[in-house]
Amino acid sequence: MTRLRCDFHIHTTNSDGTCSIQEVLQLYARQRFDVIAITDHAVEQASLREFALQGGPQTVTQETFADYLHLLEKAKKEARERYDLHLIPGIEVTNNTKEYHILALDVKEWIDPDWSVPEIVAEIHRQGAIAVACHPAKKEGEVLQGPFRHLYENREKYRTLFDAWEVANRYHLFPSIGLLKVPFLANSDLHRPNHIFSWKTLLTAEKFNMASVKQAICKGERAIFWHG
Ligand code: ZN
Ligand code: ZN
Repeated sequence: MTRLRCDFHIHTTNSDGTCSIQEVLQLYARQRFDVIAITDHAVEQASLREFALQGGPQTVTQETFADYLHLLEKAKKEARERYDLHLIPGIEVTNNTKEYHILALDVKEWIDPDWSVPEIVAEIHRQGAIAVACHPAKKEGEVLQGPFRHLYENREKYRTLFDAWEVANRYHLFPSIGLLKVPFLANSDLHRPNHIFSWKTLLTAEKFNMASVKQAICKGERAIFWHG
């Protein structure tokens, strides 16, 4: 078991990120990361309609999900063979109307962002995947980056529902999530290459062993670190 440099929240050109999957692999390999998850957005119907009207950004949809997963499975093999990097296929289940974003790590099937939070988490668990509450903060106060109030406001109610909570996202720290005393993660939510300089997670786990990484996320020892 070693201390692994991890980032479980990364976007690519499959949604609103600027890096291709290839560029993400190279970027993280250069910075000597061990475990990363690519988690492009899948959005609720209202956002999908809005994005269609305004011509973007791109997202993963029910129709493109199988192709997206296929790309990630191919990249996972390449990441290991070429870069000694453990890539986890993921998705960010994104509901902008109801203001919750949820990571599904090691996702296997489509998850509908219009479902309620408990329904989404139940589906993630049915798939044997990991459910992470993303940037749980209100618009004013702990974070400035958008209206994601639902998970923040319901943090006591959902406390044990999620496998882990983001206690930090990119440059922001969420002290009230720390006070929940739940398993936490720190992720970059990378959309552009310079976002790699952000809060991240150190996990004690066995690389390329998903069961070990899962165990470490849900129950294990972890620390957050700033990568500058
Ligand atoms: Zn998000
Ligand atoms: Zn994100």
